[in-house]
Amino acid sequence: MSEYFGKEVPKLGFGLMRLPKKGEEIDIEQVKKMVDLYMDAGFTYFDTAFVYTGSEEATKKALVDRYPRESYTLATKINAFLMATDEKACKEQFFTSLERTGAGYFDYYLLHAFMENNYKKYDEYHIWDFVKEQKQKGLIKYFGFSYHAGPELLDEILTKHSEVDFIQLQINYADWENPAVTSRANYEVARRHGKSIVVMEPVKGGNLANPPKEIQKLMHDYDPTMSYASWAIRFVASLDGILTVLSGMSSVEQMEDNLSYMKNFKPLNDKEQEIIKQAQKIINGFSTIPCTACHYCVDGCPNNIPIPDVFEAMNKQLGEGKRIQAISDYKKAVEGKGKASDCIECKQCEEACPQHLKITEYLVTCKKELEE
Ligand code: SF4
Ligand code: SF4
Repeated sequence: MSEYFGKEVPKLGFGLMRLPKKGEEIDIEQVKKMVDLYMDAGFTYFDTAFVYTGSEEATKKALVDRYPRESYTLATKINAFLMATDEKACKEQFFTSLERTGAGYFDYYLLHAFMENNYKKYDEYHIWDFVKEQKQKGLIKYFGFSYHAGPELLDEILTKHSEVDFIQLQINYADWENPAVTSRANYEVARRHGKSIVVMEPVKGGNLANPPKEIQKLMHDYDPTMSYASWAIRFVASLDGILTVLSGMSSVEQMEDNLSYMKNFKPLNDKEQEIIKQAQKIINGFSTIPCTACHYCVDGCPNNIPIPDVFEAMNKQLGEGKRIQAISDYKKAVEGKGKASDCIECKQCEEACPQHLKITEYLVTCKKELEE
């Protein structure tokens, strides 16, 4: 448990970004089961966002309509660069989120996904003042922002906006020293400013649930009963100052696995920390595409290229040497959609990518490896 403004916040947060699906629709019945398991285990932190398609509506059906409002806390986010054409449309997101969730107020409200190329939009649209007004009205309890850039800018923003209650950072053992993500350096800046931290992507978009074989062996030899995802989540939950660790769970099985080690959470011991250090060394020598499958790049692509699915297929070859499977997965991914070779290098996707990936360059490699 973390102490936060006099309240105890359990360390596992339910991220509602990658909910289970039945066909194209969110599988509400399965989400209800997941919510029940999570609440029964004594956890209370739910995290959605205006831009997660169908997620706020699913939150209403699976949580808000079924549990007393004081029994859980809900976080959602306003986005000034995705689905917001001007200031009015951006502010409207707040009221739409209230309506979609039916929650009455938000316990946590975030300015979403700050990057070098977009954070000024929040100033331009006067969103800081807007959010503070909503806080004064009691429609927001605490506010913060989620962040995907480097430590210098983070220091600058936290100095200018010391009023933020908390901050959300991408932290996982694979990105700890990754120069494109700078998990450690950002964590240290936030701590220096005395901010509590919500962790996102602790399993790196699911990648650390299935890490490279060498890492799997290290972890399995130490304890065959512990899932690979559990190592990733316990690593971040063991850090000081963590308000909650968001896990974007997509099935009842993932929920059960998460609860099995977070219900009576034990920080990593010295031997386990040593194994994580070895895993970090192995990962630093790997060359898979570090896509977290957030899908932020997909909507703006004029040629409808399923970028994260293409990268997932490519990673079968890069990470596991499975070329035949990679080609077969690629064919399925692009069926009826744009192919890697359809990229016209407009770079809209790169502007939207919180991992700062050189998507167009990766697509050239995907084209060569998977199409030719
Ligand atoms: S650069 Fe290529 S992949 Fe990216 S949005 Fe443009 S066409 Fe789509
Ligand atoms: S390429 Fe970037 S924006 Fe697109 S899904 Fe991957 S991480 Fe997200």
